[in-house]
Formats: sequence, structure tokens, C-alpha cells
Amino acid sequence: MKNVYLDNSATTEMSPSVIRAMTNALGNYGNPSSLHSIGHNAKKMIEQARESVAKLVGADVDEIIFTSGGTESNNTVINIAGEIINNNEIKKEIIISAIEHPSVIEAAKRLEKNGIKVSYLSVDRGGRVIIDELRKMLSEKTALVSVMFANNETGTIQDIKEICRLAHEAGALMHTDAVQAIGKVDFDVKDLDVDYASFSAHKINGPKGVGALYVKKQSLYSPFMVGGHQEAGRRAGTYNTLGIVGFGQAAKDALGAPKKYQEIINPIKNDLRELILKSIPRVIVNGDQESTLPNILNVSFPGAEGESILLYLDNYGISSSTGSACASGDTKPSHVLMAMLDDPELAHGSIRFSFGLDNTTDDVDYVMQYLPKIVEDLRSISTLETGDK
Ligand code: PLP
Repeated sequence: MKNVYLDNSATTEMSPSVIRAMTNALGNYGNPSSLHSIGHNAKKMIEQARESVAKLVGADVDEIIFTSGGTESNNTVINIAGEIINNNEIKKEIIISAIEHPSVIEAAKRLEKNGIKVSYLSVDRGGRVIIDELRKMLSEKTALVSVMFANNETGTIQDIKEICRLAHEAGALMHTDAVQAIGKVDFDVKDLDVDYASFSAHKINGPKGVGALYVKKQSLYSPFMVGGHQEAGRRAGTYNTLGIVGFGQAAKDALGAPKKYQEIINPIKNDLRELILKSIPRVIVNGDQESTLPNILNVSFPGAEGESILLYLDNYGISSSTGSACASGDTKPSHVLMAMLDDPELAHGSIRFSFGLDNTTDDVDYVMQYLPKIVEDLRSISTLETGDK
């Protein structure tokens, strides 16, 4: 049976160059904080990786802090906002979008439990935040605005530059979760002008359990992990040398990737979208197709459960996802699709196909051999079927 992996937004396969770099680094057991040469060699590898990550996102090297991944980077920033609010007479609230990753939403809810006001920005049907609403929410009380660069379920890209401009105009700090955008679209943190940005290695063919937080020089900071002087006191804990080396290699490889995604993968993804629309009745394509990542396609099949479609596809060796992998096993409809569509049936009937650079048109043909029949069969037995064919 063929294997077609279309779940690259959940995670990616480590590339051979990353595996090679990590394998070569395996023997270097030194603690990068040690002053002897074995430690120094490990530290050198970390600093080379930092340069690669900084270059990929347009940061200065000392603006990159290595973390355990996107979740920790996001938690760190929301925590900073809490600290600011607790120590400031004017700043009293934060604004996040309703479609953020749970690592932003849950961290914000923790602030809410401690009495801090959190406002949730609505999105339109395409998943773009409503800028007018942001304008109304912003005030001198706003400490932080956090809006993701691109959504992990739909691929919808936000106008971060404009959102950041508005946040700064109101005197607020700006964070963007760029975990899904890095390596897929070109951007530069200095050009965006954000104060903080989150990244993760395993979405760009690097290892799991390592990521980075960009912190613009002079932006307020307070460490989330304490108890060590690593990362200039900004993130305590012995360095994950191997992971960081792998992340550095993945970042180096990702430098030319956005162009390849745009030129090679985007047309393949669009082919799948058009074939689905042509061959399967009553399909809704989720996400703003004018402003979307080149590798994510999210579609709803009313009358069929996304989870059932996923399992049937898996029987044929096709890996896909219902919304975000982090939410799988959760029977609640996706909070992202609910914020966009406010329709549990559409939210339940959605499937995300997320492409990597290894996918080809053959993979699309293979999916189309099975998907129409799977949807038809599921609709014919479904209690969700509304009969409005
Ligand atoms: N933010 C977004 C948009 C994501 O898609 C993910 C992972 O799915 C994360 C954050 C969390 O990153 P990590 O898995 O590195 O903790």
C-alpha cells in the first residue's frame, strides 16, 4: 500500500541533513555552560544554530532564545503580559484572537483566572481577524496583542504588519505565533515590527521538543523557566544541544523553502482543492483562499464526520487530520472553525490536508481514488445527513 503523508502541519519528517547534523553532534556530550573546551565546543554548535534561526526570520542573534518548542514560547509571552499587568498601574488587559493555538488560549485563560481581562478578537468566515473590532478593543490599558501569523487548521494568514502597527499605536506590545508560517512564507520580524514571535523546529523538518522565541531588543521580558543562567538568564535549563543543532540545520535548509512551497506545492494543493470541488457535492473550503499558506487545505464535508473520513483514509495509507493534532481525541468541534463558521456540522465534518515538500501530484491522484467514495458512503449512513443534496 502507498503511504501518502498529508499531515505536515502536525509534524514533519526530519530531513536527512538534519539527521546527519544531529548524528555528527551526538558525541559532543559537553554542557554548553561549562568553561572547559568540551563545553565550549557544544556552546559553539548552539551559537551556530542560533545564527541560522536568526537569519531565517530576520532577527539579530541575541534576539533568539531557544525553548522547548512553540508551546513554551507562547506560554512565555503570555506570562510576560501577566507580569507587566501585575506591575503596572495602567496596563490591565490583553487581546488575543479567537483562533489562536491552545498554547496561547489556555495560557491567556490562566491570566483570566487571576483577574486579568482577556478580549477575544473575532474572525470572518475566512478566518481573518476583524481589524475594526481590534481598533475598538485597543486602549491604553492593553498590555499585549497576540495574533498568530498563520492558522494551523486552515492556513489563513493575517495582516500582522497592520495589526502590529495598531497595537503599537495604542502602546501595546505585539506577539505573533509564527510556528506554521516559518519556512512556508518569507517574512522578517524586523519588517513586521513585532516584539515577540514563536517558532518550532518540528514543523520545518527539524526535531521535536525544540523551538525559539524572538524577543525584540529592549522589549519587556521576564523568564518563564527560572533556575539557571542559560540564554543570558532568559530561559533556564541545560541546553538541548542535539535538538538545537537539528533546529539550526532545519533553519538553514528552510531558507529557500518558501519559494519552493509557492512554486511547487501551492499548485498541487490547489489541484486537490479543485478536484475535490469537482468530484464531491456540497463541499466547503475553509480558510481565506486569497491569503493562505501554500501547504494547508481544509475542507468540510457536511453529512460526514471528519474523524471517520480520517480513519477511512488511513486504511489506504493516507495521513490527514481533523483540525489540529493537538486537539484530536477531543470530541468538541474545532474552536477555529466554530469561530469562523459557527456551525458544528461543518466544524465536525472537516479534514485538513497539509503538504510538505516531498508531496507530488501522484499523492493528489491517490487521495482522489478514495476520498469521493469514502464521503459518499459515510453520508449515506450518517445520522448527520440532512438530505439537502
Ligand atoms: N502554535 C501553532 C500554530 C502550532 O501549530 C503548534 C503545534 O501544533 C504550536 C504552537 C505548538 O508548538 P510545539 O509543538 O513546538 O509545542
